[in-house]
Amino acid sequence: ASVSSKNILDGLNPEQERAVKSESRAVVIQAGPGTGKTRTLTARIAWLLRENRAAPENILALTFTNKAAGELTGRIESFMPKQGHLVTAATFHGFCLNTLKRYADFKRGLMEDDLRFEVLGLAVKAVTGEKKVPKKTVSKIDAWISLQKQQLKAPGDESLHDAEESVLEDFDPVWTEVYKTYDRLLQERSLADFEDLIFICFRLFSKDAALLERVRQQYTYIFVDEYQDLNSGQYRLVKLLAQNSHIFVIGDPDQSIYGFRGSDSRFFNRFEHDFLGCEQIRLRRNYRSTQTILDASFQVISMGDDKDNEGRKIYASLDGTQKILINETASESAEAVAVGKIIEKGVGGLSFLSMDKGTGSDSGTDREYAFSDFAVLYRTRHQAMAFAKAFEKAGIPFQTADREHWVDMAGIKDLLALVRIFLGRGSEADQQQFAQFLPRIAELSLPMNTSKLLGTLAGWLDIKALGNTDETLAAALHRLNALADRYSSPCDLLDALRLDQDPDFLDKTVEKVSLMTMHAAKGLEFPVVFVTGCETGTIPFARDGKTVEDPDEERRLFYVAMTRAKEMLYLTYARKRRIFGREQHRNRSCFIDDIEKELARYEKGKTQVKKQKSKDIQLELF
Ligand code: ATP
Ligand code: MG
Repeated sequence: ASVSSKNILDGLNPEQERAVKSESRAVVIQAGPGTGKTRTLTARIAWLLRENRAAPENILALTFTNKAAGELTGRIESFMPKQGHLVTAATFHGFCLNTLKRYADFKRGLMEDDLRFEVLGLAVKAVTGEKKVPKKTVSKIDAWISLQKQQLKAPGDESLHDAEESVLEDFDPVWTEVYKTYDRLLQERSLADFEDLIFICFRLFSKDAALLERVRQQYTYIFVDEYQDLNSGQYRLVKLLAQNSHIFVIGDPDQSIYGFRGSDSRFFNRFEHDFLGCEQIRLRRNYRSTQTILDASFQVISMGDDKDNEGRKIYASLDGTQKILINETASESAEAVAVGKIIEKGVGGLSFLSMDKGTGSDSGTDREYAFSDFAVLYRTRHQAMAFAKAFEKAGIPFQTADREHWVDMAGIKDLLALVRIFLGRGSEADQQQFAQFLPRIAELSLPMNTSKLLGTLAGWLDIKALGNTDETLAAALHRLNALADRYSSPCDLLDALRLDQDPDFLDKTVEKVSLMTMHAAKGLEFPVVFVTGCETGTIPFARDGKTVEDPDEERRLFYVAMTRAKEMLYLTYARKRRIFGREQHRNRSCFIDDIEKELARYEKGKTQVKKQKSKDIQLELF
């Protein structure tokens, strides 16, 4: 049974409630981390449904990750179980693909990365006449084409752009030719890449006014979370869709961390001009973190620029006077061991403030923690290795935010490769591995329903036999079959799986420490957070060890990481770190020095870890 609207509004502060019940056509909430932006957005959707102001079919909520879309749906459903699942909560890419399929009979299939590189390689060869093209060149052009597509720029398609938008970044005439050729090859093979989805959808809307009108009439209430992360293509799509609809967006320019992917918080700042007369709401009460954590993170973010610093100040509603813990260790392995020890103490119900001392009388921790209360954040993925090793050794259960692994499981992976070959979307690698099956696949006749196809192919691979010996494979197979029931066309099944590959999946139901990049931690919260590798060169990150590409974005990323913490925040760094197999001396991150000394407690770890063997050094390289 659904709860009353009173419950939806329960506990909201006056600004949040005002946002939920706003009568304005356009609403923008700008507010800092943990102020309940996402919660307010969810409550508004639930409230609109509850009050019968909107039908669930008329609501579109756009997010940047599948995880965020899933969480939004879950939260709405908890308020409105009967209607929640009818709301469209999707990523930009997912929404565009579904729209194309539903309204435009879109038949092109989404490629896996290896096929994309293959086709791009062919395009480069065709244009340059070279027989061999270095991988590095292909990936450079790939990044360039992606960036152009994200900005809806294509050679010879100037019609889409108004005066202020420059047409195709004039890079290199050869690259422009490659872009054209690559797109032609995709079209001939009925393939599409990820970035095509928004572009093709936008093009379609621009050319087909009747269709655009239908879609506009469908989605009369549009919501966007994390609006500060919009890139130009997503921004223009939203503007186009929301011309006459209700629009409700939330964001925080201080948490804009995807500039390297073409995101630009200027689009957020432009909202009040794009939607004249919009209602602007600020939230100032933070429900996530202690005041100390907020003060420290405020000091870091406000040092970065001379923006309206009073405007970005937020206030804690949680008690807690625990200082920020800043821990220095000898090496990255000592850092990992120290973090592990702190977690063990916390789970054991001991005071766990310090790294080396047993208990401390100044402890602010008087409760027992579960493993899932802890998160370890890092700037680059390879930092995870040291933690994984230390935690395994100490018997600390952990999970790494990653792609959901079940599709990569032997057996499932093979099966899906066969499906790709059957649909003409197999890469060379796919085909080589299944050379013996190629003639048999050629004999299969289209059209074929997904379940039947999977059954046939699984029979060839003798997957059932594998399944009997491996429980997890059986579960994965079960999951795949359930999807097959939902997507009756094999092409739709593959597309759905391809879209569902965020590298930030975390299982919230398990009692494990979460390991993830600072980027993947966006929007999340944990009682105890370790921001690790706080060294200049790591955060702020410098690819070559010296030059930081975008210092402001690094600062915002550090801010995002710090503000994930609810009760305790640790900033850890190592004096020495192995980078590409070579040991380097490290300096404490300059961001730490922006935090007032009084807010923090500084510690040096005595933990020593024996020199690593050469085998381990190899591991850290990859
Ligand atoms: P971020 O910028 O990190 O995405 P946010 O502004 O979206 O943060 P939420 O994740 O919505 O913040 O909320 C942060 C925490 O505060 C959540 O645990 C949420 O349930 C809680 N919260 C939000 N509003 C209230 C409230 N009025 N009363 C109690 N708790 C609240
Ligand atoms: Mg949020």
